[in-house]
Amino acid sequence: MSCEMSPYVVIGGGIAGVSCAQSLKVISSNKQTKVVLLSSSSVVKSVTNINRITQNIEDFDVTETKITELNDSSLGIEAKCCDVVKINPEKQVVITSTGEEIFYSKLCVCTGAKPSLINNQCPHVIGIRDTQTVNELESLVAKSKKIVVVGNGGIAMELVYSLENIDVVWVIKDTSIGKTFFDGGAAEFLLSSLDQPKDRSDTLVEPDKRRSKYTVFNLSNNSSTSAPVLGGSALGPDWHQQTSLTGSSSKNITFEYGCTVQEILYGGSLVGSDGQFPVEVILSNGKHIECDFVVSATGVSPNIHLFNNMPSCTINLDGGVEVDSNMRVTGVKNIYAAGDVCSCSWQKSPHWLQMRLWTQARQMGIFAAHCMVSHSETGTDPILDFCFEVFTHVTKFFGYKIVLLGKYNCQNLDLDKTQLVVRVTPGLEYIKVVLFEGRMYGAVLVGETDLEETFENLILNGMDLSHYGENLLHPNVDLDDYFD
Ligand code: FAD
Repeated sequence: MSCEMSPYVVIGGGIAGVSCAQSLKVISSNKQTKVVLLSSSSVVKSVTNINRITQNIEDFDVTETKITELNDSSLGIEAKCCDVVKINPEKQVVITSTGEEIFYSKLCVCTGAKPSLINNQCPHVIGIRDTQTVNELESLVAKSKKIVVVGNGGIAMELVYSLENIDVVWVIKDTSIGKTFFDGGAAEFLLSSLDQPKDRSDTLVEPDKRRSKYTVFNLSNNSSTSAPVLGGSALGPDWHQQTSLTGSSSKNITFEYGCTVQEILYGGSLVGSDGQFPVEVILSNGKHIECDFVVSATGVSPNIHLFNNMPSCTINLDGGVEVDSNMRVTGVKNIYAAGDVCSCSWQKSPHWLQMRLWTQARQMGIFAAHCMVSHSETGTDPILDFCFEVFTHVTKFFGYKIVLLGKYNCQNLDLDKTQLVVRVTPGLEYIKVVLFEGRMYGAVLVGETDLEETFENLILNGMDLSHYGENLLHPNVDLDDYFD
């Protein structure tokens, strides 16, 4: 392919790559414009059944299809299953493992991230990333009695909730579950829906009170004490719902809070064991735990290998390649990045933060396409999309609908100027509002609260709510009045 007729090229068949390629086709004014998508996986992910909940919150399904189906779709994307091994930014060409050279006019790298395992050598430690690893997990669980789960993010939480008939030791470095998403209060609320653990090595901690002012309305005596509404489509792959994670014992969860894995013994190094289990985990609290295998749900590291030969670009502290407010990889020309692989360097809105999630992979992929087309066709920089104004995430943990808005966990806020107002109805809802200098900066909504739209508007409008003070979440205060 010659350089003059070079297409837009997208590397990666995840949400970011597919959203970018599809948008390039839709947005380009010249419908003959070629869009080539290269993916090392023969299965690609697309977004379907988009349900707009509020201005910024979308719920959608993630569908896996064969890469060939992208070629067959009416959009006319040229999709190819191949492993890209190198990018030559001077010649504007990508090179595949078979030596094929594909020239590009503009390139978007959406190579995602891979699990960071606590131990890469031990064959009894697995990570969860894709269908293959979930299948592996399913067959391992079926023949296991006891496992250790390490990690405290969404994957660990969903996994522990979904496991059945198995003894689980959950190793959590923090003092409460789901620290990425929740404080101790929300964790306690959610834990009440788990099977009551038989052996708790720690009691749940109270919400982090540090210098923030906490006001809790406990509505336990309120009339609404029925169970939360379950069901509805969960955002994300639903990997745990389509999988049978059933072991060969009975379910028991032991929480090991505030500790990490120090060592993993297996094979010849496993001395003194009666041989019942193939692996032994030594924790920083001194406990030795024997088990069938270990799930390491300890975060991801971006796949930045294609930038190794580009010293002019910046790799940020979180391991992602830095992009500017037009999704351009800083330091190189005509290369963009989106999704888990990138790290946003722009001056962020006070209510937005980057998290490696499906929603953001899709938003970034689409915005990258807008920028690529705008730079190609008009030479102008589009303004940052509105979706980057306020952080939103809808998910499900332990059967509850969860909505996270803005700086829901007081991220980077001066706690001296921050007030938290919380309302809890046991078994039904947990609502936390983050007020910064009297204005709403974030919220955590657990259960069917129906407050997401009102709160998103309050965050975006920046209204002064200080006169409500501690009564902000009082049941008699109707915040909707603001928008009538
Ligand atoms: P990926 O989906 O990782 O796609 C990367 C693509 O790049 C792949 O197709 C890969 O084959 C391709 N690729 C990589 N290197 C090359 C190369 N050299 N050449 C060619 N192709 C290459 N987020 C949520 O919001 N909600 C959830 O419920 C949720 N659950 C999750 C559960 C699990 C088990 C995991 C692992 C993640 C979950 N996430 C969830 C996070 C979410 O999956 C990611 O944020 C999202 O998939 C990132 O999309 P992406 O397109 O950037 O990368």
